[in-house]
Amino acid sequence: MKKSASPRVSKSAERITAILDVLQQTYPNAVCALHHKSAWQLTVATILSAQCTDVRVNLVTPALFKTFPTPKAMAAATLPELEELIRTTGFFRNKAKSLQGAGRIITEEFHGKVPQTMPELLRIPGVARKTANVVLGTWFKIADGIVVDTHVLRIARRLQLTKQTTPEKVERDLMRIIPQSQWIDFTHRIISHGRQVCIARKPRCADCPLEHLCNAPDKTFSSH
Ligand code: SF4
Repeated sequence: MKKSASPRVSKSAERITAILDVLQQTYPNAVCALHHKSAWQLTVATILSAQCTDVRVNLVTPALFKTFPTPKAMAAATLPELEELIRTTGFFRNKAKSLQGAGRIITEEFHGKVPQTMPELLRIPGVARKTANVVLGTWFKIADGIVVDTHVLRIARRLQLTKQTTPEKVERDLMRIIPQSQWIDFTHRIISHGRQVCIARKPRCADCPLEHLCNAPDKTFSSH
């Protein structure tokens, strides 16, 4: 019999490959659910998506982009004007300040264009690693990190890909075990899985294609 040099590592690597394969087969066309036509629109939509559903953001952005179509226009908007347009997304005062500030810095320091590096993106008001990873991955196709939103955090823990509880540490663990070529698709697929099957309360484990690979303590059904 062929001897494995490191059975533990290989077993865990095989499990991760199996999880990635199932996700790819189940959600082959998963994409970002936030409607956008440019890096700027995606940046705005992602800032607005904090503590808010993508569906709600998509209801708000058409009028927002029509009224203030460019970073320069948004920089010149008043806070009450912005607040009125984004009120239903929650935390609208902070978000209005972020949008106005994002418009300003992109206009004044980045020549009106959304930058394509993590350090530059992190200088934009309202943009933390999650938003930066969304913009880099979804728009620029640059895999600099892995988006860790509420779905990715919950499911990475359920699948025992990490024991961490903060997005930064979960991201670091995922970046260590998932091939970089899959970082962007992994995010979209896990978010789809989190919305459709592995929901926060009472996950639909009996219908889950990952069930045979999952030992989550809060599983609602187990075949093994
Ligand atoms: S088996 Fe249940 S807990 Fe595990 S990934 Fe599937 S839905 Fe989530």
